[in-house]
Amino acid sequence: MADLQEASEHDETNEGEESHKIFRITIRCTNCLSCQKVCPTDTIYFGSQHFVIDTDDCIGCEICIQVCPEDAIRVIA
Ligand code: SF4
Ligand code: SF4
Repeated sequence: MADLQEASEHDETNEGEESHKIFRITIRCTNCLSCQKVCPTDTIYFGSQHFVIDTDDCIGCEICIQVCPEDAIRVIA
């Protein structure tokens, strides 16, 4: 039980930890660069047609979602 509580508290802080969320940039993306400029881990890059997020380095801060003018970034898990 104590272990579960500790795990829960740990998840809430999430500082410097890898995120368990998975972010996906959808086809609504217009390649405006806003998310790439603000991402603290520099994990957003240009894919074959629009920007994509490298989930291995994403810390789940959601700053990219807040700045996206097209509402193109989704948390899918
Ligand atoms: S959630 Fe944060 S770390 Fe992850 S891609 Fe968006 S801005 Fe970058
Ligand atoms: S901020 Fe939104 S529209 Fe702009 S590049 Fe990022 S995902 Fe695409």
